[in-house]
Order: sequence, then C-alpha cells, then structure tokens
Amino acid sequence: MVGAGVVGCAIAYELAVRGVQVHVIDGRGPGLGATRASAGMLTPYIEGHSAALLQLGVCGLEQYDRFISRVSSDAGAPIEYRRIGTLQIAHDDAEAGKLAEEDRALSAMGVAHSLLSGREARQLEPALDARVTAGLRIPAHGYVGVQSLLSALVEAATRRGAEFSVAHVHAIDGAAPVRVETTGGALSADAVVVAAGSWSGGIVLAGRQAPVRPVRGQLLHLRLSEPPVSHVVWGAAAYLVPWQDGSVLVGATVEDVGFDERVTVSGVRRLLDDGERLVPALGNAAFHEARAGLRPATADELPIIGASSSMRGVYFATGHYRSGVLLAPLTAALVADQLVDGRERRELALVRPDRFGL
Ligand SMILES: Cc1cc2nc3c(=O)[nH]c(=O)nc-3n(C[C@H](O)[C@H](O)[C@H](O)COP(=O)(O)OP(=O)(O)OC[C@H]3O[C@@H](n4cnc5c(N)ncnc54)[C@H](O)[C@@H]3O)c2cc1C
Repeated sequence: MVGAGVVGCAIAYELAVRGVQVHVIDGRGPGLGATRASAGMLTPYIEGHSAALLQLGVCGLEQYDRFISRVSSDAGAPIEYRRIGTLQIAHDDAEAGKLAEEDRALSAMGVAHSLLSGREARQLEPALDARVTAGLRIPAHGYVGVQSLLSALVEAATRRGAEFSVAHVHAIDGAAPVRVETTGGALSADAVVVAAGSWSGGIVLAGRQAPVRPVRGQLLHLRLSEPPVSHVVWGAAAYLVPWQDGSVLVGATVEDVGFDERVTVSGVRRLLDDGERLVPALGNAAFHEARAGLRPATADELPIIGASSSMRGVYFATGHYRSGVLLAPLTAALVADQLVDGRERRELALVRPDRFGL
C-alpha cells in the first residue's frame, strides 16, 4: 500500500481483516496529507454533483454505521461519528431558489428531507444569523471526526497484523511480483495499491502517470464552550461542523494553487467572515487551528479505483477529491473484493482506472 491517508488506511484495514499481509508505506506517516484537513462530512446529497458521484456517495454513506462500529471495536477506541443531519441555509432569494430546486430533486429520489422558511430554520437552530431566508434539512447526513477515525484505522489494522513504515515511493514496476522503489530500498509484493492522493501522479508507473491534480482546501478549527448548532450547517460560501465538545470546523476554500499546502491570511480571513455570517456567535469562539490540505482531483471528479488494466498486480485508489472520507469504506470494500476474491462490485464500473489509460 502506498499512502496512509484515510483511503490507504481504510484499505489496509479491510485487507488485513481478510487475512492479507499488508505493508503500508507513507512518505510522512499516517494521516498527514489531505486527510488532516478534512471536515469529515458525510453528505452525499449535497456534494453529489454527477449522477455517478451521487450513486457512489449514497452507497458510501450506507456502509458507514457498520464500518465505524467494526473499526471502533477492532481498535478498542471510540470514534467521533454522528448522523445529526445537515441544514442548508439561504441568505437571499437566489439561494432560496436553489434550495427549492434541491427540494424537488430530493422528493423525486424519495430522500427524507424538509424545506423550511427562514423562521422555521431559526427555530430549529436559534444561533443562525437573523437574515436567513430559507432552510433545507436532510436528516440522513452526518460527520465523522477524521483524526479519531484515522487513529482507529491504524490501530485496528496494526492489531490485524498490518505494518506501517515511513519512506517515499519513487517508482512501481507492475507484473507480479511488483517491484516498489523507495527511499528505504527496493521491495517486492504480490500486489501494490497506489493510494497516494494528490501525489499519485509523481510515482513512476512503468511509463504511465496517474492523472490526479491537487486542489487546496483550508479549514478552521474553532472552540466554544458548547456546540452552537445541532446540525452540520451549510451556507453558499461556507459550512460548519459542530463536534460534541464545542469544537466547530469551518470550511473550506477551493483553490487551484498546485502543490502549495500553506494556510494563508486571505484564506483564514475569508473563512472567519463566512463562518460568522452563518452563526454570529462564532465571533466569540477561541481560535484553535487552521489547516490546509490538497484534495486529489481527476478530470471527471470521480475517483480512480481498482486493478490496472495494463500493469498486473497494480491497483489504484486515488482521486477522491472532495469525498475521500465519505468514500473510504466503499473504496476499501471495492479494492479488497477485487484483490482478495476477484469479485467486481457494480460500483467499480463507474471508477475503473482504464478510463484514463491506466
Ligand atoms: C479542507 C478540506 C475539507 C474536506 N472535507 C471533506 C469532507 O467533509 N468529506 C469528505 O468526504 N472529504 C473531504 N475532503 C476530501 C478528503 O479529505 C480527501 O478526499 C481525502 O483525505 C483523500 O484521502 P487520501 O488518502 O486519498 O489522500 P491523502 O490524505 O492526501 O493521503 C495520501 C498519502 O499518501 C502519501 N504519499 C504521497 N505520495 C507518496 C509517495 N510517493 N510515497 C509514499 N507516500 C506518499 C502522503 O504522504 C499522504 O499521507 C476535504 C478535504 C479538504 C482539504
């Protein structure tokens, strides 16, 4: 396994559970790529831009309850995970019109939800800005605390025999056994999974390159004495994720700046302003941290998952863009089914590596 982000760690865990001897190699150590900055929202009906992504996201969400209970029990550690629902809010007529459109689409799909007036939205969440004009509540949505999930995945995988080490992988030469060139020397394995997020394209793959590009996201971690809202709140410019301990995540920027992982003054300023515009009480919150991460994006905004069509023994699990946390359990199941049992679930047809010549 190359890469110990949420995707690589979920796959490592799933493979280890199925009795595979797993070695995870990461250039920095677990969870220090995009995963570190993630808000952990599980919100397929909001982020499902294309029909294919919606299908994957809904399937991903369905797996979450069972996945969290398995990982938590195998790791012997709690994971912050709550299906508290989302409340999307509008500040003007144009935004309210978009919520009304979503209302119609959700009704057509048979998804439980409610369209609210501004007054109803504020009754539900009294801390919301007084200028809110409409709301849309989707109860199935939720969030996971990504740091707690990541630590539990590493612990659970390790207990099942997986090994983690720090080294940079330069090149992979397919054809079982697969040869992996690292800064710590060359290794060989029956199969290698490329889960290196935005950096996947930097690994030399027998003359090929995974077409993944970085899209920076910045996120704030603020703290109040208690949660100011009881839903994940989603506005046109920002979202808020309320943890049980009073932490509030405010996200996120979407920036095309290459491999630049810095937190910037203008990014922080924008998120502070947009967050306060949703819930004014955030002006009184303690500033805990600002983080930035590089979301791995592909040209069609769908991940690349499954066996390479041209390099025997090489698998991909990359390009998860804005949904890597939501899709991690599904990705792990797709890869493990194919690699261990030779079984191809139907979702694999949406994300195959061969659509990019891999
Ligand atoms: C601000 C922000 C908010 C987000 N919010 C959400 C959200 O609410 N819900 C959601 O589902 N998703 C969200 N995402 C997206 C999600 O975080 C990513 O899709 C996910 O983290 C990708 O995980 P990954 O394991 O593929 O990549 P990463 O976490 O980037 O991990 C890749 C790993 O590979 C390692 N690596 C890279 N190259 C090499 C190499 N050559 N050799 C060895 N190791 C290597 C890196 O060190 C890194 O640890 C958000 C992202 C950001 C930035």
